[in-house]
Amino acid sequence: SHYLTEFEEQTVKSKAIFQKAKEIMPGGVTANIKSFVPYPIFMQKGKGAYLYDLDGNEYIDYLLSYGALMLGHGHTDIIQAVQKQLEDDGTLLFGTPHHLELEMGEKIKTLYPSMERIRYTNSGTEATLLAIRLAYAYTGKTKIAKFEGHYHGGYDQVLLSINPSLEEAGHPHAPKSVVESKGVDPYHEEHTIILPFNDLEHTSQLLTKYKEEIAAVILEPVQGGFIPAEPAFMHGLRKITEELGIVLIFDEVKTGFRLGLCGAQGLYNVKPDLTALGKVVGGGFPVGIVGGKEEIMMTSAPAASSDVFDSSQSRKSSAKDVLFHSGTYNGHPTVLAAGLATIKVLEQEMEQVLQRTEKLKAGLEILFAQRGIPMQAIGAGTIFNVVLTEKQVRNYRDLQQADFATRKELDFRLLAKGIYTKPLNRYNLSTVHGDKEINLTLEAFDTVLSQMTK
Ligand code: PLP
Repeated sequence: SHYLTEFEEQTVKSKAIFQKAKEIMPGGVTANIKSFVPYPIFMQKGKGAYLYDLDGNEYIDYLLSYGALMLGHGHTDIIQAVQKQLEDDGTLLFGTPHHLELEMGEKIKTLYPSMERIRYTNSGTEATLLAIRLAYAYTGKTKIAKFEGHYHGGYDQVLLSINPSLEEAGHPHAPKSVVESKGVDPYHEEHTIILPFNDLEHTSQLLTKYKEEIAAVILEPVQGGFIPAEPAFMHGLRKITEELGIVLIFDEVKTGFRLGLCGAQGLYNVKPDLTALGKVVGGGFPVGIVGGKEEIMMTSAPAASSDVFDSSQSRKSSAKDVLFHSGTYNGHPTVLAAGLATIKVLEQEMEQVLQRTEKLKAGLEILFAQRGIPMQAIGAGTIFNVVLTEKQVRNYRDLQQADFATRKELDFRLLAKGIYTKPLNRYNLSTVHGDKEINLTLEAFDTVLSQMTK
């Protein structure tokens, strides 16, 4: 039978409501990534490791809101912390400095010592955006460099060469800057240099060539959350950026509190100049944190400028002296309370999530090997991907050789068996993905692989 039949039979309510959603939102979704063909599943409820859709189907959730939900759905510690914050503080929002900004800040500085000073934002996107602006301000240079296949948020400076077609992507040693969206200012094709991941020789060549212009190199220490930087590459990148006077930005929006409590910088023992955090640290609420070297971060301090920007008053000094950073909801107390509760649980349970992830990866590799299907459960920390190839995968180009058509069939068959991730997406684990869920997942894969190979 066609692999979509079972999926479509089980999700009739999602199919129907999707028609209505398209009358409300372009494509029926409010983030393009949430869409898939024939239609996305509309969820009704979450509990622990499980999601429940409109048709009443139960799924073990491995999307976990793109990794944000490290304690699963509706963890009582988070809900209690949020309720307590609301009762104790009596407000949803102060609009002034407040105690939780310090409490979270101290926690972050302990776990991420490179983050000597921090600022809060409302998303990972805003965190990397501010990190890049800090680097521009600090160095006075006008270009940045990012790696092919790496995602840092949805704005012009980094919306380049995330998922380029191989026809457009240029030579693997010097990838071309390929715009990922309509409406991006072509200026950025010239001002964002694209680097080859895990290729220290050619990365160094490009950085050296443009060293006078490149303010910062930004990277995902683990590309897409699952292709790790090789240690020698990581240490080499730190060394060369330091030598060339280029700010090194770790985008730890995915790896923070997922690769380990102390993120990639803890695991690799490499100290970036700036770090962007997000996702897990908000406990399911919108969040971002930027931090780094005091000297760089102080560029954003009002005391470093001769004025504080206030749109209701005329300026006394030049705007050029001020690095602008603001946001009505920055450091939102409810978000920080949820984030602190999350970290507290992770301090006890992180190790177990890491172990269970390894157990699931190993179990899956055995199931595929038993049927002679080339598959690697590639990942690091608590995220992995199911990559159908026997070739070594070290970067974006290698990944393109995987068998995505079979993977897609596998994913839709798994959806029909109650295993949720968005088709072709990664697998994230949480503290509430226990041995029971791991075993159920392996059973579902076993069933589906039998269907596909009979
Ligand atoms: N950076 C990385 C590595 C991410 O994975 C993401 C989100 O998926 C972002 C930045 C953007 O974060 P947000 O979606 O919170 O804006």
